[in-house]
Amino acid sequence: MSSTAHQETFLAVDFGGTGTAVGVVNRAGQILGRTEFPTRDFVKLGLPEVFVHEVVSRAKALVAELGIPSPSRLGIGAPGGNFFTGEVCDSPNLAWRGSTPLAKLLAHVSGWEVRLENDANASALGESLFGVGPEVRDFVAVTLGTGVGSGIFVHGQLLRGADGFGGELGHFNIVPDGRHCPCGGAGCLETYASATGLIRTVLTGIRNGASGAGDFDAVGLEADPQSAGKRIAKLARAGNPLARDAFDVAAKSLAKAFAELTGLLSPTCFVLSGGLSKAGTILTAPLERAYRQNCLRLDRPLPEIVCSDLGAGDAALLGSASLFFS
Ligand SMILES: [Zn+2]
Repeated sequence: MSSTAHQETFLAVDFGGTGTAVGVVNRAGQILGRTEFPTRDFVKLGLPEVFVHEVVSRAKALVAELGIPSPSRLGIGAPGGNFFTGEVCDSPNLAWRGSTPLAKLLAHVSGWEVRLENDANASALGESLFGVGPEVRDFVAVTLGTGVGSGIFVHGQLLRGADGFGGELGHFNIVPDGRHCPCGGAGCLETYASATGLIRTVLTGIRNGASGAGDFDAVGLEADPQSAGKRIAKLARAGNPLARDAFDVAAKSLAKAFAELTGLLSPTCFVLSGGLSKAGTILTAPLERAYRQNCLRLDRPLPEIVCSDLGAGDAALLGSASLFFS
């Protein structure tokens, strides 16, 4: 590929449950600039147009700031996003209900060509190209943030399923009749193994007067899941038993899901990213332990569980831009 082709730029959007990042990415996988805004301020009214206008104006401001010619193509990773239709469909973590033609709305307002992908699939695409690399053909990318997202590569191809909703791990049932989930189900993985899952374990501990509960402020935890996740991680590292218990619950839930997937897919590795993955060994040590106990593959090496080498949020931006790479 020529150096000019490498310099070709694309707009990329990582539409997250808590924050949305807008970036400019080139084909070589460099993020030339990015800007972020809190998602909730723009989706709480239930009007997608408000969010769309914010994305487009942020993207234009970023391009002006970078002093580069405006890209004409925008890739977006969105919760509940569907690559085939360009729609966001009933994402449990958004106020939008039904199907929202987000790609069409963005294209209409901006005049750019827009492609949309499920947010976790976008991260998996970014991992495949610029993280674990294309030589790893079978892997599961798991994003542990406000919720749990996943993208699955099988034989070097992203698994989208027949209708674009394949590869979804967050709503795997982990505990029959377990915690209520915004999807309408109960006992889904993301109610245990996400920032909101950690918070729920801690809130239950506070109500039950668990050891270590006195170090937490229940109201503060619910107000901001991302910073609450960081606080719980900090307390877990300091030895707080309730915080440690929250990570143990998350780890055991993930281990159960990973063991099932190992039997089904036999991937090379599981790649963790997102805020919770930054917690380090307080998550990965109990996860490894429980995963080994759950897997019945004593005569063969198990898939590795690794943390992404990419910077925070980079995989989703790179993957969203890469929707135009082939
Ligand atoms: Zn669910």
